[in-house]
Amino acid sequence: MEIQIKRKCYDCKKELQLIDFHKHSKEKYGRAYECKSCKRKRDKEYNKRNRIKVLKQKREYDTKKSLLNAIEIGNVNIIERASNRLLMILTN
Ligand SMILES: [Zn+2]
Repeated sequence: MEIQIKRKCYDCKKELQLIDFHKHSKEKYGRAYECKSCKRKRDKEYNKRNRIKVLKQKREYDTKKSLLNAIEIGNVNIIERASNRLLMILTN
Protein backbone atom coordinates (compact mmCIF):
# COMPACT_ATOMS: atom_id res chain seq x y z
CA MET A 1 0.00 0.00 0.00
CA GLU A 2 1.25 3.43 -0.88
CA ILE A 3 1.14 6.16 1.71
CA GLN A 4 -0.55 9.27 0.44
CA ILE A 5 1.90 12.05 1.13
CA LYS A 6 1.04 15.38 -0.31
CA ARG A 7 3.51 17.97 -1.32
CA LYS A 8 3.03 21.65 -1.95
CA CYS A 9 4.21 22.89 -5.29
CA TYR A 10 6.75 25.66 -4.90
CA ASP A 11 5.37 27.43 -7.93
CA CYS A 12 1.55 27.15 -8.04
CA LYS A 13 1.29 26.44 -4.25
CA LYS A 14 -1.16 23.58 -4.81
CA GLU A 15 -1.14 20.57 -2.50
CA LEU A 16 -0.59 17.64 -4.81
CA GLN A 17 0.22 13.97 -4.62
CA LEU A 18 3.81 12.90 -5.04
CA ILE A 19 2.95 11.32 -8.37
CA ASP A 20 2.33 14.82 -9.71
CA PHE A 21 5.99 15.68 -9.16
CA HIS A 22 8.96 14.45 -11.12
CA LYS A 23 11.45 12.27 -9.28
CA HIS A 24 14.35 14.19 -7.82
CA SER A 25 16.63 12.29 -5.45
CA LYS A 26 18.08 15.31 -3.64
CA GLU A 27 14.74 16.86 -2.80
CA LYS A 28 12.29 16.17 0.03
CA TYR A 29 10.38 12.88 -0.48
CA GLY A 30 12.62 12.33 -3.53
CA ARG A 31 10.47 14.58 -5.63
CA ALA A 32 11.03 17.86 -7.43
CA TYR A 33 9.97 21.12 -5.77
CA GLU A 34 7.58 22.02 -8.55
CA CYS A 35 4.70 19.97 -9.95
CA LYS A 36 4.80 18.38 -13.39
CA SER A 37 2.49 20.91 -14.93
CA CYS A 38 4.54 23.84 -13.61
CA LYS A 39 7.71 22.18 -14.84
CA ARG A 40 6.17 21.74 -18.26
CA LYS A 41 5.13 25.38 -18.33
CA ARG A 42 8.60 26.51 -17.24
CA ASP A 43 10.32 24.31 -19.84
CA LYS A 44 8.07 25.73 -22.52
CA GLU A 45 8.86 29.28 -21.43
CA TYR A 46 12.56 28.48 -21.34
CA ASN A 47 12.47 27.02 -24.83
CA LYS A 48 10.60 30.03 -26.11
CA ARG A 49 13.06 32.48 -24.59
CA ASN A 50 16.12 30.47 -25.58
CA ARG A 51 14.87 29.22 -28.92
CA ILE A 52 18.12 29.73 -30.80
CA LYS A 53 20.25 28.22 -28.03
CA VAL A 54 17.92 25.23 -27.68
CA LEU A 55 17.87 24.71 -31.44
CA LYS A 56 21.65 24.84 -31.57
CA GLN A 57 21.96 22.34 -28.73
CA LYS A 58 19.52 20.03 -30.45
CA ARG A 59 21.35 20.30 -33.77
CA GLU A 60 24.66 19.69 -32.03
CA TYR A 61 23.27 16.65 -30.23
CA ASP A 62 21.73 15.20 -33.40
CA THR A 63 24.93 15.74 -35.39
CA LYS A 64 27.08 14.13 -32.71
CA LYS A 65 24.73 11.19 -32.66
CA SER A 66 24.85 10.71 -36.42
CA LEU A 67 28.64 11.12 -36.35
CA LEU A 68 28.94 8.38 -33.72
CA ASN A 69 26.60 6.16 -35.73
CA ALA A 70 28.64 6.75 -38.87
CA ILE A 71 31.86 5.89 -37.04
CA GLU A 72 30.24 2.74 -35.75
CA ILE A 73 29.18 1.57 -39.21
CA GLY A 74 32.36 2.96 -40.79
CA ASN A 75 30.64 5.17 -43.34
CA VAL A 76 33.36 7.63 -44.37
CA ASN A 77 31.05 9.89 -46.37
CA ILE A 78 28.71 10.43 -43.46
CA ILE A 79 31.62 10.81 -41.03
CA GLU A 80 33.02 13.60 -43.19
CA ARG A 81 29.68 15.31 -43.66
CA ALA A 82 28.77 15.09 -39.98
CA SER A 83 32.19 16.32 -38.85
CA ASN A 84 31.95 19.33 -41.12
CA ARG A 85 28.47 20.08 -39.88
CA LEU A 86 29.56 19.72 -36.25
CA LEU A 87 32.51 22.01 -36.83
CA MET A 88 30.20 24.62 -38.33
CA ILE A 89 27.79 24.37 -35.41
CA LEU A 90 30.54 24.63 -32.82
CA THR A 91 32.35 27.53 -34.43
CA ASN A 92 29.21 29.54 -35.10
ZN1 LIG B 1 2.69 23.58 -9.65
